Amino acid sequence: MSHLSPLLKQSSGILAARGEGAWLYDADGSKYLDFTAGIGVTSTGHCHPKVVAAAQKQVATLIHAQYTTVRHPGMLALTDRLYEHLPAPLDSIAFSNSGSEAVEMAVRLARHATGRSNIIAFTGGFHGRTMAAASLTTSINKVRTGFHPMMAGVVHSPFPHAYRYGWDEEEATRFCLKELDHIFLTQSAPEDTAAMIIEPVQGEYGYYPANTAFMQGLRERCDRHGILLITDEIQAGFGRTGRFWSHAHFGVTPDILITAKGLASGFPLSAIAASTALMSKGLPGSQGGTYGANAVACAAALATIDVIEGENLVENAKSTGAHLRRRLEELKSGFAFIDAVRGMGLMHGMEIVDAEGQPDGELAGNLLKAAERHGLLLLRCGTHGQIIRWLPPLVITGGEVDEAMTKFSAAAESLA
Ligand code: PMP
Repeated sequence: MSHLSPLLKQSSGILAARGEGAWLYDADGSKYLDFTAGIGVTSTGHCHPKVVAAAQKQVATLIHAQYTTVRHPGMLALTDRLYEHLPAPLDSIAFSNSGSEAVEMAVRLARHATGRSNIIAFTGGFHGRTMAAASLTTSINKVRTGFHPMMAGVVHSPFPHAYRYGWDEEEATRFCLKELDHIFLTQSAPEDTAAMIIEPVQGEYGYYPANTAFMQGLRERCDRHGILLITDEIQAGFGRTGRFWSHAHFGVTPDILITAKGLASGFPLSAIAASTALMSKGLPGSQGGTYGANAVACAAALATIDVIEGENLVENAKSTGAHLRRRLEELKSGFAFIDAVRGMGLMHGMEIVDAEGQPDGELAGNLLKAAERHGLLLLRCGTHGQIIRWLPPLVITGGEVDEAMTKFSAAAESLA
């Protein structure tokens, strides 16, 4: 009998013993092409030698130094390196351990800095599982059911999910911005609204990129009303979409940017970035926790940035991402159960439908299991579990993408 809590249920039967690059090895020696990347975390691949070396060196030097007491060289160096990639005026960085905690930091900073209470989040957004982060989240009931009441002061405004509405992108965007303006008149007056938080490319809800008109519409309303714009780039940031930050696709700059996942190649580390002026409106000691800016995680993050820069991984996310997209569109032409392919860079989702064109979570689940039998590890998401996600590490090659397609096609044919 396993003593592992059933709360920590796995979607695959794999006992992951070892990882190398885009590959995971089971304890019995079976190998899997890993298109989950630990849910977008192992951006440099499993156990990149440079990340391993940096972490090993750091473990032998200093494992933990508490950041409210002392600084350590890694955290300072990391702020400098992150700063090089941040848009002006974001020049100040605070660390935490997980995505959810960083979301909490951003929300708390926004409330503190503006003296306002309300946060507008967008439908389908996923921001984490802690209470505040879950309160902002509407990607799926599971994060909220049984946990009510959620945090007060959160209002949800529609995100332009054109596919789900059956509208075109322009129509969906116009509707969503109108609804947002209506929310200002009915539920959250601008003078009560501290911030809007958005994933510029939604992850867990099913890989929906926002668009320029929508993001600029948000930025313009934030500027007009003194509201802070927070971009949650925990999944879509750090090179994944083919730009270093996902907001950069849409010609807007956030006031607070949140990053985690790919930041440290698997070590627990997250961060928020804002201008020094904005950060100065927070209270020292009011944020973060014991383990924030852990020295080993910071060393791994520095090595991660070295690898991303040295191996042109942002460019790879763009070019190999375009190849992945082409290959997924080919799959769509070949299999009637694939209704749509969406995403950006190395972050794509595939809508699985039944013969009537309805979301088919059962088939998506069977496809995932069949893919696993063929040596390909995938994830799924969506309200019906109907979206198959393609989320490889940023080191993925065109050849490995092709191999994944061969495995997926064989898996799909095995179910026919
Ligand atoms: N925001 C986004 C966009 C995410 O994808 C996730 C994790 N899937 C989170 C927040 C929460 O991060 P964590 O699980 O590290 O708390």
